[in-house]
Amino acid sequence: MTYGIILGAGSGLRMGLGKNKVLATLRGQTIISHAILAFDKMVDGLILVIKKEDDALIKAALEKTGLQSKINKVVYGGSTRQQSVLQGLLALPEEVERVLIHDGARPFVSKELIGRILCGLDQHQGVIPVVPVSDTIKEVNSFGQVVKTIPREELMAVQTPQGFHKDVLVRAYQEAAHQGFEATDDASLLERLGIAVSTVMGEMENVKLTTKTDLDFAKVLYQKLKGKKAEAEMPIIRIGQGYDVHRLVEGRPLILCGVKVIHEKGLLGHSDADVGTHALMDALLGAAGLGDIGSHFSDQSEQYKNISSLLLLEQTMALLEKEGYSVQNADVTLVAQAPKLKPYILEMKETLAYTMNISPTLINVKATTTEKLGFEGEGQGISAHCVCLLRRK
Ligand code: MG
Repeated sequence: MTYGIILGAGSGLRMGLGKNKVLATLRGQTIISHAILAFDKMVDGLILVIKKEDDALIKAALEKTGLQSKINKVVYGGSTRQQSVLQGLLALPEEVERVLIHDGARPFVSKELIGRILCGLDQHQGVIPVVPVSDTIKEVNSFGQVVKTIPREELMAVQTPQGFHKDVLVRAYQEAAHQGFEATDDASLLERLGIAVSTVMGEMENVKLTTKTDLDFAKVLYQKLKGKKAEAEMPIIRIGQGYDVHRLVEGRPLILCGVKVIHEKGLLGHSDADVGTHALMDALLGAAGLGDIGSHFSDQSEQYKNISSLLLLEQTMALLEKEGYSVQNADVTLVAQAPKLKPYILEMKETLAYTMNISPTLINVKATTTEKLGFEGEGQGISAHCVCLLRRK
């Protein structure tokens, strides 16, 4: 059985809030509530160590956010950190074998980090998270003069939660109490007894909030972390655009968006020259970053001679499927002076949707003339435009 002990018994007055810093609010939650939430479902129980005079305030804060049920026991801390941890240890149920000790002023601890510590405890009696030191560290004497520079490669900054096998930690605390030794973290007490303490990589975000400036930084950091999470959960949406033109000639059928249209001329091309379906395919391939029709279905290839473009559309959909894309919507515009396309629009829309195996509500087909201007207006050819959105599943 594993328990967490969360420490909120410091005075935390350096934050200048006139109250314990763990009660400072970060996005509608107290700092200590954020820490409690991180431990939820990661441990079998939680003990909260607080100052007696904060009792009412902390309990009210936990009740407000419905977190009181996550705490198995609230105990009052002592005058030092070490005294406070000791009170937490004394409150642990007999069956607890492992314990994680965490500073309540580190609200950004992640479940991943807690998981790494727990994993480490399978192999070691003590495991602590560390991060490299980025500043150069110097020893300075009482006159403010540099004595020496300490090689940075050998230094690591230590965070919490620190994890231990309970029997070892209790013994270390008893020894320290016996000898009147005080330390600023729990691992130090094991080190004194010659017990090896292992490390795992901590997290730069897992900062301890001490001053008002820390709290201001934390607000920015919180926003950033939240943004990162939202970004990771956001589906990938991609836009594509397609354009195609074919020449109108005598003696060819006119196929537009998979539908045979009655007209005295048809479009010239290697395949059935379905300009609408081609623009759609180019938009789809473009959105998926898969090149264009020509690169997948060469107009030099015999197998595509006079082929129905609907078969190529089907293959295009298979390519998208393979990449994890689904169609959010597509909008095709046919540009032709003649014939009148309005009677065919509904059938075009349904044919494309059927071929693509999507709902007809996701496909729009529309047609326009160019007021007899340009090659379409003069009846030399028909063009088509398409835009589409894809969503990555
Ligand atoms: Mg074409």
